[in-house]
Amino acid sequence: MDIFDDNRAGELLDRLRGAKRIVLTAHRGPDGDAVGSTLAMWNHFKDLGIASTVVLPDAFPEFLNWMYGKSEIVLHSEEPNRAEELVRGSDVLFIQDYNDSSRVGGLQSALESTEAYTVMIDHHQNPSDFVDLMFSDDTSSSTCELVYRLIERWGHAKDISVNTASCIYCGIVTDTGSFRFPSSSPKTLRIAAALCETGMDHSEIQTRVYDNNRVEQLKLVGYAISSKLIVYPEFRAAIISLSAEELKRFSYRKGDTEGLVNTALSIEGVNFAAFIHESSDRVKMSFRSVGSFSVSQFSASHFGGGGHHNAAGGASFDSLEDVHQKIVDLLPEYAADLDYSDK
Ligand code: 5GP
Ligand code: MN
Repeated sequence: MDIFDDNRAGELLDRLRGAKRIVLTAHRGPDGDAVGSTLAMWNHFKDLGIASTVVLPDAFPEFLNWMYGKSEIVLHSEEPNRAEELVRGSDVLFIQDYNDSSRVGGLQSALESTEAYTVMIDHHQNPSDFVDLMFSDDTSSSTCELVYRLIERWGHAKDISVNTASCIYCGIVTDTGSFRFPSSSPKTLRIAAALCETGMDHSEIQTRVYDNNRVEQLKLVGYAISSKLIVYPEFRAAIISLSAEELKRFSYRKGDTEGLVNTALSIEGVNFAAFIHESSDRVKMSFRSVGSFSVSQFSASHFGGGGHHNAAGGASFDSLEDVHQKIVDLLPEYAADLDYSDK
């Protein structure tokens, strides 16, 4: 059944028209889909004359700096008290592009103590059922695709502004690797076409997202591939790891290593790739796979993480070396699952 097939979407719109403090949140380390889906709702609400505020746990990558409404975003990392008060004091609270309160970083306790009516819009597997209204569909390419479908269900598809369309398109493009991943469906492409019909400049959005590299960033990627990529051909796996010192050496900024894990996965014969790096207080992991091997299961089983079948992540308070070794030690256990040669 289509998750928007009943009248819950209509009831939500009625509630929003009567609400005073609408807050939109997304996960820690917000990506194109997190920022795109919250700002798309914010822009659409604005067009409807409904005020709302986007509150994010921390900063987003610079390649999203063009997004409409981004200067209105409240970051918990910069204004913790204001961000927590907004979440705690909201009357309708959106949980977008994440499905567990542990994913919202420093906003977690505010989220868990709010009296707000909570609405989840998300496409990750295994949602925690902690909200009042859940729109969860793990077959959707992105949360932005679900935002489009919600707006469509409200009967507003023809009124989507260029600003709203651009935010939705950005989330779809970044979560599908520009329509390459299997999660990109005929429906995704039809939605992309409808967004283009608003007059949105699709090519310009891809340029803003992908063609604004800094020299230091390209050198970091070059270093990671030439010096830090380890391939385990017998296990069809590849791992790249970067320490905080290495990141600093190349003046790392958020977003600089976006896509690096896919580069490791692109190696012929590699069906599982991991990119691990030291972040402020922990080691952050990105896992990718092709085919039947589920990285969301792998991450959930061994690192308390999650995500999607072919794209998942996790975090650990162990050292970078220990996390690396743990992954390497697990590979023999999955050797048969990662070998598709006779399947
Ligand atoms: P990325 O590798 O791009 O950071 O994340 C890939 C996917 O896994 C995204 O959909 C993201 O939301 C999810 N993900 C990333 N890190 C974590 C994590 O620590 N826990 C969980 N549950 N999901 C994660
Ligand atoms: Mn997403």
